[in-house]
Amino acid sequence: MIVAMQDSASEDQIQHVIDQLVQMGFEVHRSTGARQTVLGGVGAHPEFDIREVEMLPGVQQVHRITSPYKLAARSFRPEGTVVKFANGVEIGGKNVVVMAGPCSVESHDQLFAVSELIAKAGARVLRGGAFKPRSSPYSFQGLGEEGLKLLREAGDRFNLLVISEVMEISQIPLMLPYVDIFQVGARNMQNFNLLRELGKARKPVLLKRGIAATIEELLLSAEYLLSGGNYEIILCERGIRTFETYTRNTMDISAIPIIHKLSHLPMTADPSHGTGRRDKVAPMALASVAAGADALLIEVHHQPDKALSDGAQSLYPEQFAKLMDEIRMIAPAIGRQIA
Ligand code: PEP
Ligand code: MN
Repeated sequence: MIVAMQDSASEDQIQHVIDQLVQMGFEVHRSTGARQTVLGGVGAHPEFDIREVEMLPGVQQVHRITSPYKLAARSFRPEGTVVKFANGVEIGGKNVVVMAGPCSVESHDQLFAVSELIAKAGARVLRGGAFKPRSSPYSFQGLGEEGLKLLREAGDRFNLLVISEVMEISQIPLMLPYVDIFQVGARNMQNFNLLRELGKARKPVLLKRGIAATIEELLLSAEYLLSGGNYEIILCERGIRTFETYTRNTMDISAIPIIHKLSHLPMTADPSHGTGRRDKVAPMALASVAAGADALLIEVHHQPDKALSDGAQSLYPEQFAKLMDEIRMIAPAIGRQIA
């Protein structure tokens, strides 16, 4: 159930409604917007009479939510979620944020070379896997904590935020001092134990859509994070598996406007994994910005032919710089810019 309070509702009235909802058996989540406070009530019995809440002072409207996700629903935060960072970067705000970097952190020289290039081109977030979910156990599995240290060093040096993938619960405390955003990969979208733990963390999480997950399943996974009290959640379309074999995955650009309608959470597009081909990354990145993506996640390597993972889909630095220039032209067409 969603309770939208009147713009003029006092703090006492809001607190009274919260107390009543708790007494009725709801778990209450509060979203305080610039104008309006919205309360999300989760749980309690379905035959509950919403008029009991409608009558309370300060209440403007009450909606029963029939969708299986409540806190991820647009109605919980109609104005949209903006994930804000200390250095001024905002994901979900007016500007499009570009996150870029290698698939995996491989060495100091590799990471610093790529970081410098992407920062110069205008990226604000450095990506790089320290723990890698590889299809084969014989492939490079990542540098682990050493990789995290390098990410933090490079991020600080080139004024970039850092995002890296967390694969299991035990890695959360290890990663906390090094990363600004936890990435949950496609293969872990339904690792519910991991999501529950990240729901308790007070650090933003970027949740990727699973290889065969519906949009509703993605939003339900986000609900796990939100119901733990972590409201700084960013979603990511990274391609889904279809019968098409030309590309590695099929980049579902329609997921961007659909999720913007269904949910208040910001949307990222990852055209690198979405296509698996370097030559298709730029067109899909531009199309994603045109479709309303709040952020892009793009793999870039200074020597893609030597990359230890995902070289074929990693852009050369010049290609990335050219893409950034093109985004600078496309974004204003829909009233945005690059952050
Ligand atoms: C990655 O970002 O390098 C990655 C492994 O992504 P995904 O989980 O989308 O496959
Ligand atoms: Mn990759």
